[in-house]
Amino acid sequence: MRGLAVAQAELTSFDRQFHARCALQRPDRYRLLDALPVDAPRIARGGGVSYVGASFGDGVVSQSLDAFDRLLAFDAAAGRLTVEAGARIGDLQRFLLGRGWYLPVTPGHPRATVGGCIAADVHGKNPARDGTFRAWVDALVVHRPGEEPRVADRTHDADLFAATFAGFGLTGTISSATLRLARPPHALVLRRVPVASLAEAARVLREAANAPVLYGWHDGGAAHFGRGVVNIGLASSEDDEGAPRVPPASADLPAQVAPLPFPLWNRAGLGAANRWLDWRWRRAGQAPMALAEALFPLNRARLYFAGFGPAGMAEAQWLVPHPRFEAFAAGLAELVTRTRPRIALIASKLFAGVADGFSFDGSGIALAIQVASPGSPGERAFLEALAELAVAHDGRPNLIKDSTLDAGMARRAVSGFDAARARRARHDPHRLHGSELARRLAL
Ligand SMILES: Cc1cc2nc3c(=O)[nH]c(=O)nc-3n(C[C@H](O)[C@H](O)[C@H](O)COP(=O)(O)OP(=O)(O)OC[C@H]3O[C@@H](n4cnc5c(N)ncnc54)[C@H](O)[C@@H]3O)c2cc1C
Repeated sequence: MRGLAVAQAELTSFDRQFHARCALQRPDRYRLLDALPVDAPRIARGGGVSYVGASFGDGVVSQSLDAFDRLLAFDAAAGRLTVEAGARIGDLQRFLLGRGWYLPVTPGHPRATVGGCIAADVHGKNPARDGTFRAWVDALVVHRPGEEPRVADRTHDADLFAATFAGFGLTGTISSATLRLARPPHALVLRRVPVASLAEAARVLREAANAPVLYGWHDGGAAHFGRGVVNIGLASSEDDEGAPRVPPASADLPAQVAPLPFPLWNRAGLGAANRWLDWRWRRAGQAPMALAEALFPLNRARLYFAGFGPAGMAEAQWLVPHPRFEAFAAGLAELVTRTRPRIALIASKLFAGVADGFSFDGSGIALAIQVASPGSPGERAFLEALAELAVAHDGRPNLIKDSTLDAGMARRAVSGFDAARARRARHDPHRLHGSELARRLAL
């Protein structure tokens, strides 16, 4: 068909664990979004910055929403924005912060798109305060093969609306969404609280539950496991006059950070990095911090991701309920001492929501554990043991982050997995949507 523009492309997940040569369609008008043969397997692609292969896969046409990035309506009085789904979150924050509004739930990569944030139901800088992305979406337009586009919200087509969050693109392609906005804090002051362990971090996180920005960084090495700092960004009336008001344009940052030809994060490199982080950041104090900087720390962390080298990394993220967290953290410390995996960092966050479908939500403490060279036997064994430990403590995994999970583990670890799978099947009975993620986890 004229203008269909399907080309072959090599696509790689952000963690570098999955590559595929697949068909990539770049529609630039609405009629082309619906122009694939009705039985062609497909999947929507936003910024392509998911750690796993969620927006492409063998034998599937990846539909890029790159050209769908227009602002359709902005109500500056009510704080509502209707936007096409390919708009990048970094560009939206630039636009909104300049006009006294912002999106409180923002993932760390500015090239993530509105469609990707909905389909992954992402969390931001403090999920306990702001919830996940779904809390800020009023309505969606969803395109499905052979059907007219459907407008879904909490009252109309409510099942499709709910299933599309953490639906990983499997319920259809979102072309636009209406978002609710919040007033940003006038300025932030970042308070650093050093902690000696993950259990201490959990206590500090719980006490600061209402901070606009709240997360911990921790040493994942056996010698000082869990030692780190909890960053508490509080609203402040004192402005840092020199601080940037808006984040840099997201086009400045590549979707994929090119890897160094050799891994920096071997044992010696990780030891040195942890010693530097400890010296530089693990001390009590506070300083003004620009909101723009807090939203996208990746802008300062390119070398960190490049340092994983060609073998890449894996991010295992588990949310463990409060009553089980201390025992889980103790078991993790013991596992790390015994197996000495190459953990590059651990990030902790506080959650206070309710999981729905495949979503990563609940009430507890989440740990994101980034591991170098996850394909090596030692690291692979560690990641498997970590999953068993987390499940034994009622942990819930973030399916769209962890390329080391398999279908059996996803089914055991996600309560409501079968119901979520059945809901997905209701909205895609002929399984016309697919991806590496959907295949690997049998979603
Ligand atoms: C450095 C870094 C930091 C991150 N920080 C966070 C974080 O703090 N919190 C968090 O939750 N996540 C985080 N992530 C993960 C990332 O934000 C999500 O995976 C997000 O989905 C990526 O958006 P994207 O537009 O790149 O989507 P893609 O990677 O292109 O696709 C992701 C999924 O969304 C679907 N999708 C994309 N567009 C559409 C559409 N228009 N219609 C239907 N489905 C669609 C795809 O099919 C796929 O299943 C981070 C990732 C990186 C690399």
